[in-house]
Amino acid sequence: MKKSVQPDDLPYTLKRSHRKSLGITIERDGAIIVKAPLDLDRKEIERFVAEKRVWVQQKLAQKTSVMGESPKREFVSGQGFLYLGKSHRLRFVENSSKGKKPKRTTERKLRLRHGYFELDKEQQPKAREHFISWYKEKTEEKLNERIPRYDKRIGVEVSRFGVSNLGHRWASYSRNSTIHFNWRAVMAPIWVFDYILVHEMAHTIERRHSRRFWQLVSRVMPDFEEIVRWLSENGPDLDL
Ligand SMILES: [Zn+2]
Repeated sequence: MKKSVQPDDLPYTLKRSHRKSLGITIERDGAIIVKAPLDLDRKEIERFVAEKRVWVQQKLAQKTSVMGESPKREFVSGQGFLYLGKSHRLRFVENSSKGKKPKRTTERKLRLRHGYFELDKEQQPKAREHFISWYKEKTEEKLNERIPRYDKRIGVEVSRFGVSNLGHRWASYSRNSTIHFNWRAVMAPIWVFDYILVHEMAHTIERRHSRRFWQLVSRVMPDFEEIVRWLSENGPDLDL
């Protein structure tokens, strides 16, 4: 039985009460609340949520674009930023490429060095963009590194992957055999990152969250339920 939220599911909170029908609402902070009658079968609830998926995703996308205008973080000196489960403080440095010819526009303005995130001082207004591209790059790097650890064990070949902003999902698997990763995933500890990866790799064999699917996952990660719990508790903190 599925106990908790999966990386590619819509995370929702189920509230049962003395009501006759199912209902779904989205809170101001983007939390999805599903209200259901006390004794309604879990399968029916899941089916209802699946039917509402498009509507929910549209609503969430609207909210994200609204929230995007007022980021939670200010990118000030001393603020902590996560990478593989560890927080590193941000510090501003004098322009590192001053006097030198900048090689490319993509030259690193943000670096992780000696346990600190270092950002060129004059880049402060663009800090968020620098962080996002840094996280995207690291997610790619980690995927290249981690996929070979699991592909043979699961028995799949991952031909393509992409890194993007998946909003409320950690990863997804699309019909054209591409695994999509949310760049926020690299903020999580590596064992959590690995679980998200293994989960999507298992989907390349079995699309549904069936018994066979969970067998595939648990063969590679016997303790995956603990990781799922970790994700649902700490996932919301993995953000900029
Ligand atoms: Zn899944």
